[in-house]
Parts: sequence; C-alpha cells; structure tokens
Amino acid sequence: MDDLILKAKTTHNLNKEELILLLQDETNLDSLLNAANKVRQEYVGDEIHLRGLIEFSNFCKNNCLYCGLRRDNKNLPRYRMDEENIISLAAHAKEMGLHTVVLQSGEDLHFNTERMCRIVRGIKELGLALTLSIGEKTKEEYAAYKQAGADRYLIRIETTDKKLYADNDPGMNWEERAQCIRNLKALGYELGSGCLVGLPNQSLASLADDILFFKEVDCDMVGIGPFIPHPDTPLKNAGGKKLNLSLKVMALTRLLLPDINIPATTAMETLAPDGQTKALNGGANVIMPNVTLTDYRKFYQLYPGKTTTGYTPDASLQKVIDKIQSLGRTVGLGYGQSPHWLKEQC
Ligand code: SAH
Ligand code: SF4
Repeated sequence: MDDLILKAKTTHNLNKEELILLLQDETNLDSLLNAANKVRQEYVGDEIHLRGLIEFSNFCKNNCLYCGLRRDNKNLPRYRMDEENIISLAAHAKEMGLHTVVLQSGEDLHFNTERMCRIVRGIKELGLALTLSIGEKTKEEYAAYKQAGADRYLIRIETTDKKLYADNDPGMNWEERAQCIRNLKALGYELGSGCLVGLPNQSLASLADDILFFKEVDCDMVGIGPFIPHPDTPLKNAGGKKLNLSLKVMALTRLLLPDINIPATTAMETLAPDGQTKALNGGANVIMPNVTLTDYRKFYQLYPGKTTTGYTPDASLQKVIDKIQSLGRTVGLGYGQSPHWLKEQC
C-alpha cells in the first residue's frame, strides 16, 4: 500500500481502482495525510490563505435533502442582507486584513443578475479578490458576473454518482450542474468544486470518481465537506459525520491535484475540535473565517453545530490567526490565487 501512496506522491496519478484501494484501507490515514502535507508544502508552500465568508441570504429555491436551507424547511427563519450591508461587511473584512471575500447564499432569485453585478462592482472597488458561491446560473449570468469583476466561483458537484445526486437533489440535474462547472472554467474563473462525504448509500467507488472528476474538469480549488445531518431535513436520521474518510478524500485530492487550493472546511472543524488542524496538516492551505454578522449567522444552517456560530467576525478571525501561528505556518499576504490557475494564465 505504501507503494501506492508513493506513486501518488511522485506521479500525481492514480486510477480508479488504486484510489478505491487507498480509500478502503483503514490503516493508512496518517500516511496519506503526511504525504499530502509534503506535496502541499512543495507545490503551494506554507502560507494559509484566508477568505472572509459572507453568507448573505439563506433563501433557497432548491430542496437538497441534506441541507438545512432547503425550501421545505419551514422551521428556519429566512433573511437576506441588503446590498449596502453586504458591501460594508466586505469593507470590514478588508479592514480586518483580509484580501478575499466569498459571497455565499442559497439559490435566491431576489438577487438577479443586475443586483449581483452591482454588488460585485461595489466589492471590487474595495480592491478585494471576490469569490461567488451562489449556485447554478446560465452561462450568460456567469459571464456577466465575470465582466463585473468576479474572480472565482465555488460550486460543488456534491457527488459524481448520478443516482445518488438524483435521489438527494430533487428537481436538479447532474448534467446541468456539471455543465455549470465547465462553463465557469471556460469563462476563465478560478474554479472551485468539491463533494460531500458520508451521504447515505455513497460508495467508495463514487468518491474515487469524485476525485477523478476534479482532475477532469481542471479545478483550481476543491472543498471536501463531511455530510452532517440536519434535524429539519429528510436525512435527519442518516449517519454522516465521516471526518476521517473526508480527510482521506481531501488528502488524495491534494496528491492528485498538487498545485490547487484546498480549504480546511468548517464542517471538518464542526465534527472535531482538531478537525481543521488535521486538515491543515494533511494537504489543506485555505481557511474561510466567517465574517457574517452574528445575528444572521445562526440562521445560515446548512448543517447544525457550525463552530463559528456564536463568534463576532473579529473573534472568528483572531481564533484562526492564532491557530495558523500555533502550527508554524504563515498567513497569506496576497490574493492567494491557486498556483494551478496562475500557471494557466501564462
Ligand atoms: N447554494 C449554493 C451554495 C450554498 S450551499 C450551492 O448549493 O452551491 C454550500 C455547500 O454546503 C453545498 O455545496 C453543500 O456541499 C454543503 N452542505 C449543504 N448541506 C450540508 C450538510 N448537511 N453537511 C455538510 N455540508 C452541507
Ligand atoms: Fe440550496 Fe445549496 Fe442548500 Fe441545495 S445545498 S438547498 S442549493 S443552499
């Protein structure tokens, strides 16, 4: 098995069968994380890039079975911030020393192309790099946001198992989501995708396919999120919470896509106090501190127990900086583009 990890570390290529073997082995977590940590250091260095996360609306027209923001969750009070509020939070993120903000929301039709472009322009005037994570849109809409100044886009494929996707994302279509991902890449965005790990009936073979999909669509960033059941969703009794398996998928992603950006996801931190640390020592090089105001934060419930729910933006950020220093790493000083994307611009 060590041979396979060595092969991944040196060639950055494994086939599906080899990935499945590594995912099946219950004894190789530490070896995989160590190998991914070395590859991370070699290709993207010791800096950890911070992205200020602004969760600006929890309205969603979709009904993903796993997600607390799904439209049929009537227990969740809904909010949307106004344009000034969103831009002033971005300005505050800049004052706190952040260089990138991520605007994330459910699929909220109130934010039409014109409104989104106004917000994008307002934030770009601040001199920040800007990532959008607002779901599936037409190619024309993605082009309009890009034209307005958006730099990056996050949209997870969630799973490459089409049956699992159809079961968990009613009314949505896997091919259309994959097409959104391809459109974003073609438009020149720094492309972020990712998957959930631990969905009911998810096979190790499909996780192997997920990793190969990230390579195929040429991701610049990949976020791996352990699925955490939410009590107000149809999956409330599902198991989920597979931190170690999520860490393995993340480490394998680093081994196969060595020069991309990989966040230590908040869901990993939510599952264990050292979840984020393990991720940062196993291939991750990005953290997304929450800069949403505390009043709204408790209602952005993709899943329960998000660790940052009770903190103010400044307190969240300080916690993160302390952690980075305690790991002997440094806070990224620039925009923190993925080296993979930068190489493509040459
Ligand atoms: N609406 C947009 C962005 C917000 S959702 C979109 O769907 O792309 C952001 C991510 O939250 C999703 O991609 C999904 O992977 C994750 N998520 C949703 N429910 C979750 C849960 N119960 N546990 C862990 N992650 C979850
Ligand atoms: Fe909406 Fe995104 Fe949640 Fe699906 S995962 S219900 S699209 S917020």
